[in-house]
Amino acid sequence: MIAESARYARQIVLPEVGVNGQRLLRDSTALIIGVGGLGSVAAFYLAGAGVGRLLLSDRDRVDLSNLQRQIIYRQSDVGRDKAQAASQQLLALNPQIEVALRPGPLDSAALLAAVREADIVLDCSDNFPTRFAVNRACVAARKPLVSAAAIRFEGQLALFDSARGSACYHCLYPETGEAQENCEDAGVLGPVVGTIGSLQALVAMKALLGLGDDAGRLQLWDALRMRWRALSIPRDPECPVCRDELR
Ligand SMILES: [Zn+2]
Repeated sequence: MIAESARYARQIVLPEVGVNGQRLLRDSTALIIGVGGLGSVAAFYLAGAGVGRLLLSDRDRVDLSNLQRQIIYRQSDVGRDKAQAASQQLLALNPQIEVALRPGPLDSAALLAAVREADIVLDCSDNFPTRFAVNRACVAARKPLVSAAAIRFEGQLALFDSARGSACYHCLYPETGEAQENCEDAGVLGPVVGTIGSLQALVAMKALLGLGDDAGRLQLWDALRMRWRALSIPRDPECPVCRDELR
């Protein structure tokens, strides 16, 4: 029996999950890169769902300006190490799971080691260098990657699973060295980033449970007009990251 199965009753009752699916979640490890607006929501839902082992990586401390959207933190956490403060909240929600910290910034070897420990990786970071590094590690370790971003009133997410032949993040966004916008300058509403973080947790759980077919499609959300679009992401045969892996 799953420990405390009453806790998971509302998802075990789903035929797509059941006791076997709950065991799959319990036996899974998810690596969450960045416990900010996306990561704090995604990690909360994965912890609630009983994903057995969460690895958290963040380099920041909680800032007062985070509390508007990074809802895992409390006023009293301001100034604390984010991954540590988040870990405490996740275990308060579900003491049945294990939470381990992989303090950032991770160099490429430490990142690859963390990715290898995981069954699924959630990129909840806010910058291109991290996103490219996480993608490279996921392709090298052949691990599925749920990538997401939110800014202003816009959100996007995609599941990249190059081991199964879908595009990788680099196929979609070649490294151009372009400066990128960030939420600090451009702004974002809390529910916009929270919605996308929730969907990251959903896509990750579906991938762990073998449900649906989210890989290789980019979901784009215009929250101001309340419109979604889905685009398929073609593999770039010349992509320097996944080309050699898939030969
Ligand atoms: Zn690629």
